[in-house]
Amino acid sequence: AKKTGKGQYHFYTRDLNQVVQDRFVLESALQRAIEHNELTVVYQPKTDAAGRVRGFEALVRWNSAGQGLVTPDRFIPLAEETGQILAIGEQVLYAACRTAASWPLVDGQALGIAVNLSARQLKEPGLLAMIADALAVSGLPPDCLELEITESMIMGDVEHTIRVLKSIKALGVRIAVDDFGTGYSSLSYLQRLPIDTLKIDRSFVSGCDRGGKAMAIPHAIIFLGKTLNLHIVAEGVETEGERDVLAISGCNEFQGYFFARPMQHAAVDEYLRSILN
Ligand code: C2E
Ligand code: CA
Ligand code: CA
Ligand code: CA
Repeated sequence: AKKTGKGQYHFYTRDLNQVVQDRFVLESALQRAIEHNELTVVYQPKTDAAGRVRGFEALVRWNSAGQGLVTPDRFIPLAEETGQILAIGEQVLYAACRTAASWPLVDGQALGIAVNLSARQLKEPGLLAMIADALAVSGLPPDCLELEITESMIMGDVEHTIRVLKSIKALGVRIAVDDFGTGYSSLSYLQRLPIDTLKIDRSFVSGCDRGGKAMAIPHAIIFLGKTLNLHIVAEGVETEGERDVLAISGCNEFQGYFFARPMQHAAVDEYLRSILN
């Protein structure tokens, strides 16, 4: 290898070209996936403190013909940049509403479905009409649908976000703040936005039962949420110990590998049959 400045220049150029090329390959493959319905939706249960399932979160999966299973962490950020997230978000929303509308009642109550929204979708003028249409064609009751947004999405253009979220709320749909506590935002928005739910991020849940200060943040979030009349969900619950300390602290719902991994539509039907019998 050349040690000259010129050699290094060539090295970096090739490296950068590789990155650009990998990205392009992924973007093209993603475009085919969107067009050929290679994207699927999996569902992870959320349970209450008594262990009853109350709903599911919809999570997108890409089983690529060429690249195998590609995780959302790899393609969602790319799809945000390219705008492909709009088509993906639409497919996920319709699939999730259709699937949730087919679920049986549990203890006389309809199960909820939580769907992740991206920043790009929140800026899209057609979002409200799309949500209304997804509810109409699926027949899902609006209050069964909860849309998850992150703090960083709120902070972009707060006034615009408030207007959009209020119009979504007017449909009867619920709003959750996802990964709560990981953003840089001021807490003042909690009083101004029509929010129903706070989801405690996995980074605070993980090991929260080990004593000392481990429960300080989950406890503060639960206390804050209760004071504002919000529903609290803990994500990434992996152990019984974590579930127990969060439940004692007043957390309403729990989601994580301790209860179940995300599962395909057919596996959800099986799971619901097993708990209803
Ligand atoms: P998220 O919304 O915070 O979703 C929770 C993630 O944690 C999921 O990863 C889920 O599979 C994982 N998880 C659940 N329980 C546990 C646990 O006990 N332990 C651990 N270690 N992980 C757990 P996933 O499915 O890979 O999704 C990653 C992220 O990609 C999501 O984070 C979300 O930000 C994004 N995403 C997924 N699906 C969609 C979608 O349809 N639309 C948009 N815009 N984003 C999505
Ligand atoms: Ca989420
Ligand atoms: Ca989350
Ligand atoms: Ca998270």
